[in-house]
Amino acid sequence: MLRASVAPLNLCAECDEIITNPICTECLADRMRLVVGENNPALAQQIQGFPLDGGINCLRCGKSMAICAHCFSKDIYEFLREENSPIAPEFASRFDFDIRRELVDFA
Ligand SMILES: [Zn+2]
Ligand SMILES: [Zn+2]
Repeated sequence: MLRASVAPLNLCAECDEIITNPICTECLADRMRLVVGENNPALAQQIQGFPLDGGINCLRCGKSMAICAHCFSKDIYEFLREENSPIAPEFASRFDFDIRRELVDFA
């Protein structure tokens, strides 16, 4: 395991993966509201960040954070599915499974 050689505070509180591209949930929620808002502005307003202090800082706003972008995206994706939002597949293609790659040019 890699865990012994890295600072444990760089790990995501949800999936235990090392956070390599830190963008906090509030910054992600901003971006997600734009995408979802194109389709459903009322639903977009329900997307909120999930602030949790951690040992790593957001590349964009500098706030301390503890949840990786992948986990947060999955949570929001599940929320959109529960709401039966037609934007869910579009959201998944923009945020969910490819998120680590997508975020390279995001910060
Ligand atoms: Zn995670
Ligand atoms: Zn941020």
